[in-house]
Amino acid sequence: MFKRIFINFKKISGPSNDNQKGMKKTLVIFLFVILATSLYSQQDQGEHNYFITHTREELISKLVDLPCNIKPDDPIKTILNKLEVFLDNFQPASDYPDDIYAKAANMQALISVKQGGYGIGSVLIDSDGKIIAAAHNSQIQKHRSDLHAEMTLLTNFESSHKAKKYINLYVYKPGLTVFSSAEPCPMCFIRINTAGADTRYCTPGPEDGMVTRISCLPLSWQEMAMKHKSEIGKCSPIMQKIAHLLFYSYLLDNRGPK
Ligand SMILES: [Zn+2]
Repeated sequence: MFKRIFINFKKISGPSNDNQKGMKKTLVIFLFVILATSLYSQQDQGEHNYFITHTREELISKLVDLPCNIKPDDPIKTILNKLEVFLDNFQPASDYPDDIYAKAANMQALISVKQGGYGIGSVLIDSDGKIIAAAHNSQIQKHRSDLHAEMTLLTNFESSHKAKKYINLYVYKPGLTVFSSAEPCPMCFIRINTAGADTRYCTPGPEDGMVTRISCLPLSWQEMAMKHKSEIGKCSPIMQKIAHLLFYSYLLDNRGPK
């Protein structure tokens, strides 16, 4: 297509009248739009691809690219310590209003990874934007199939005394949001909706997240999900990347059931 456009452009690139000048201008604009769209789409694809990691090598390469001074040969403990130092010192900026929650959720995720577990964390936010509970995945630590971060968060919260003012029987009053380091899985997304909270998350789960697959749910669950807000948070790229890499940190030592 580009060749044909170029030939046509050449045909009219000699001495030109007003009509031909107009055509040239249109062609130049057309070419510019095509080029810009192509570049944007490549960049978008690149960003999207970042959030898919299948091998330890890919994971290490992305960890080394973070501004955390991680080296390819660093032992796992050193990698985790460097991530911890970075997260501890990270100052959320107003450009990304959800970074304060992303930082808290990522720190929860890191606690789990340091314990030998999976790197997912979540926090519960009240209607004033205050974090009122926090939890991390503990499936490996406690040998329990249900202890995803969001499940633990809600179970612990519902069992606590402070939950009374936020809950009607078992359904939360409006205004509570579960913020997760990663896009919630089907089990957690349904639990959050059953509880009546909104869902927000830091890093997309292109291969496993349920928020972007609401249309796959049975109709009544879809209807329930549509009653609540479910969205990706306004987080900085660095928080998104760290959330993603913590999620896939099990590749570092191939932890989990064999
Ligand atoms: Zn889950």
